[in-house]
Amino acid sequence: MKIIDKTKPVLVTGGSGYIASWVIKQLLDEGHTVHTTVRNINDEKKYQHLLDISKKANGVLEVFEADLMKEGSFDKAMQNCDLVMHTASPFFIQGIKDAQKELIEPAKKGTRNVLESANRTASVKRVIVTSSVAAIYGDNADVKKAPNGILTESVWNTTSNIKNQPYSYSKTLAEKEAWEIQEKQDRWDLVTINPGFVLGPSLTKRTDSTSISTVIQLADGTFKSGAPELWFGIVDVRDVAKAHIKAGFTPEAKGRYITCNETATFMDMANILKAQYGTKYPFPKRKAPKFLMWLVAPQAGLTRKFVCKNVGMPINIDNSKSKSELDMKYIPLKQTLLDQFQQLLDDHLVTSN
Ligand code: NAP
Repeated sequence: MKIIDKTKPVLVTGGSGYIASWVIKQLLDEGHTVHTTVRNINDEKKYQHLLDISKKANGVLEVFEADLMKEGSFDKAMQNCDLVMHTASPFFIQGIKDAQKELIEPAKKGTRNVLESANRTASVKRVIVTSSVAAIYGDNADVKKAPNGILTESVWNTTSNIKNQPYSYSKTLAEKEAWEIQEKQDRWDLVTINPGFVLGPSLTKRTDSTSISTVIQLADGTFKSGAPELWFGIVDVRDVAKAHIKAGFTPEAKGRYITCNETATFMDMANILKAQYGTKYPFPKRKAPKFLMWLVAPQAGLTRKFVCKNVGMPINIDNSKSKSELDMKYIPLKQTLLDQFQQLLDDHLVTSN
């Protein structure tokens, strides 16, 4: 059990990111002092939105430069922090050329670098690592092995590897690394937030996070001839931010927290948008046949094995620990999607037929 001094700065790594931006906004609105890191301090356009938010908020923001791949990079930003939230990690599943370099090294080495800084920084009492449900399950074989077929915090991804779902593998390795480093000392404890697929409005116009590009793809005709029948556990980005803050300041918070609301397929998401916007956008009209998915899997960044094991297979995710221990109450998927689509329209990131 750790009691975090609310007057001390909170470090959030990767401030330019989709999730981190919401964590920082909520912390600043609550009056906290926030230290955040960005890869290149001179690239102000990546974090201008945070400077704008901080001007209107009660809290104070300080921006530092740090790279996941550089040892000691996070030491300066961590000075005097009781609480560290490590969110920075590459998140993409398509267009991967070298999974080791692009995903696995920054995820694993980055986590090690941040936690080694925590070992050197006497003030640190708790570290929150943004892990993922991707560290809980990789494909349906993990779901089948789970007790009663239900994914809980006790389940680990045993099926991903560098060739099969390398992003999921990177998250599994990074979280395991975090627990191993934590267990070797007792000054700071570790809590992981394991979100499902995160959706909801972005605070920037960036589209490179898979969370944003996927919703754009639902409306730009990418899935016009059919959407893969894949189930996702979905959660609103504003709830993921809230979960980080609750996990940070709840003294009893412990272990992993699945942070996830409803499960849905691409077609479920498209149907919500279609009910609101009709035929103004080329939303998918039907699910893609499994054999077609199997055929085009490599172009979509999936393995054929993944398609065989996952397409058409529902999942069951238990979020009760986050509700009972962190008092999480989740925003309904319909509101998440409609708010995100409105943001994409306001920012001219989707165009009608
Ligand atoms: P994002 O918008 O792409 O943010 C990723 C952040 O990581 C960016 O700030 C990025 O910096 C930073 N980063 C990447 N490589 C870096 C490096 N070598 N050095 C320093 N910073 C680096 O993605 P996100 O959706 O917010 O994801 C944030 C975290 O949540 C990740 O750990 C991801 O695995 C996890 N997560 C995401 C989802 C989801 O559905 N979005 C679900 C579960 C877990 P730049 O701005 O400079 O690129």
